[in-house]
Amino acid sequence: MTDLPTDLTRATAAELADALATKTISAVEVTQAHLDRIAEVDGQVHSYLHVDTDGALAQARAVDERRQAGESLGALAGVPIAVKDVMTTKGVPTTCGSRILEGWIPPYDATVVTKLREAGLPILGKTNMDEFAMGSSTEHSAYGPSRNPWDLDRIPGGSGGGSSSVLASFQAPLATGTDTGGSIRQPAAVTATVGTKPTYGGVSRYGLVALASSLDQAGPCGRTVLDTALLHAVMGGHDPMDSTSIDAPVPAVVEAARSADVRGMRIGVVKELGGEGYQPGVRARFDESVAVLEELGAEVVEVSCPNFDYALAAYYLILPSEASSNLAKFDAMRYGLRVLPEGVDAPSAEQVMAATRDAGFGDEVKRRIILGTYALSSGYYDAYYGSAQKVRTLIAQDFANAYEKVDVLVSPTAPTTAFKLGDKLEDPMAMYLNDIATIPANLAGVPGMSIPSGLADEDGLPAGIQILAPAMKDERLYAVGAALEAALVDRWGGPILDRAPALGGAAAMKGA
Ligand code: GLN
Repeated sequence: MTDLPTDLTRATAAELADALATKTISAVEVTQAHLDRIAEVDGQVHSYLHVDTDGALAQARAVDERRQAGESLGALAGVPIAVKDVMTTKGVPTTCGSRILEGWIPPYDATVVTKLREAGLPILGKTNMDEFAMGSSTEHSAYGPSRNPWDLDRIPGGSGGGSSSVLASFQAPLATGTDTGGSIRQPAAVTATVGTKPTYGGVSRYGLVALASSLDQAGPCGRTVLDTALLHAVMGGHDPMDSTSIDAPVPAVVEAARSADVRGMRIGVVKELGGEGYQPGVRARFDESVAVLEELGAEVVEVSCPNFDYALAAYYLILPSEASSNLAKFDAMRYGLRVLPEGVDAPSAEQVMAATRDAGFGDEVKRRIILGTYALSSGYYDAYYGSAQKVRTLIAQDFANAYEKVDVLVSPTAPTTAFKLGDKLEDPMAMYLNDIATIPANLAGVPGMSIPSGLADEDGLPAGIQILAPAMKDERLYAVGAALEAALVDRWGGPILDRAPALGGAAAMKGA
C-alpha cells in the first residue's frame, strides 16, 4: 500500500478507501478534511452551489459506526463525493444551475444518489453547472461560473465544470457528472482530470433533470482512472425505474483499470477528429499519447468515420427538440419559481407560466427551446428533426464499421485547452464547437472517457485524450486509460494535475 499523504485531500479515492478499510483513518476525518478545504478555496473556485456540511458528517459518522460494528461495507464506504446539481437529492436543494428551480427541495433521491448513499459515500454538496446542462464553460449557470484551478480566469469546462473544478482543486476526491454531448469529458480534459460517459443505459437516469433523454448519460469523475472505475462500479447497473436502463451487470471496469493492459489491442485514430481547428499543443500531446500506446504494445491504425462531420449539426437539432419538450414541465405550477405578471389583476395560468419562464430561464435555455420548437413544428419536422435522426443512424453505422477493424477509437477530447471566461459567451457557435469530438458518442450511445494527455506547449494548460469503445464494452476504456495514464505519469514525473500553478498542484501548495 502506498503511503497516505498527510493532507487527506491529496489522496486518491483508492488510497482513502484502503486506509478507511484498515481503520487507519475515519470517514469523519476524511470528510472534515474536505469540508475544511472547501471553506479554504471554494470562495475562489466556486465549484459548489450548495455544501451539505451536516448531512456529509452525519453520513460519515454512520459509516464509521457500521465499520466499528464489523459490518462489511462497499469498496468506497467513507470516501466523500460531490454530486452534480442535475441529480435530485432528497432534502438537499437541487437547482440544475437554473433560477427556475431555486429553492426547490426534492422529495426523493435520484437512483445514482441512492446508490452512493447505500455504498456509504458521504455527499459533500452539489456542484455548479451550466443551466440545465447546456454549455461548455459553466458560464450559463444562473449562479455565476466556476473557475479553472489551473488559471482562475479560465473556464473549467461545462456543463460539468463544478465537478471538474472540485476535483482539480482537491475539494472532493470523486464527483458525479452527466454527459449529453461531452459534459463529463470536456471538463475533464481542460482540468487534467478523468471522466467517463458510460454506455447509454449503463447508469440510471431516474431522478436526473432531463436535458435530452436519448443522449443524457450519468457517469463518474475522478482524478485517476482507477478512482473513476471504482465510482463507475458503484453508480452503474440496472434500474427498473429507468425504462432505458440496460439489464446487464456493470462491465468489469475496476478489473480492467487494475490490469492496465493494451498489448495486442487494436486502436483506431479517428481521421475526422483532430485536423483543422485543433490547437497545435492539444494535437501534439495527442500524437504523443498515441505513440505511447504503440510502445505499450497496441496496434494503431487510422480509421475514417465520414459522417462525424455532420454530428454537431444533427446534435443541435435533436438536443433542442428533446430539451424543448423536457423543459415544458417547468410551468410555475409544480416546481420552484412562480412569477406573477406585472399589472395583471387576476392572471391566467398561461400568463403566470409565461412570466415565470421569462424570468426563470436564461438566454441559452430560451435559445434552445425556440430552436427545438421550430425544428419540431409540423412544416419543418421532416426537414430538420427527421434528417438529423437519419444522420444519427449514419453515425452509429460509422462506429459499427470502425469497430469491425479496431477495439477502441481515440481522438483529442476537446479541440483547445481552457479558454478565458467571457471569450465565447457572445458566440454560441464557438461555444458549441467545443464538443465536436465528444458528441458522436452520445448520438450513437457508445461509451467514452477522457484522461489527461499532458500540457500544451503554447499555454501550459492541460489537454485531454478521448477513448471510445463499443456499447457495453466500457471496460476497454479503463484498460487503455489506465495503461496510458501510468506511462504518462512516468513521462511527466508525476500526475499532470500536480503541475497546476493556481490552486491545484503540489507545486503550488509547497509554494503557498
Ligand atoms: N456542451 C454541450 C451542450 O451544450 C453538451 C452538454 C452536455 O453534455 N450536457 O449541449
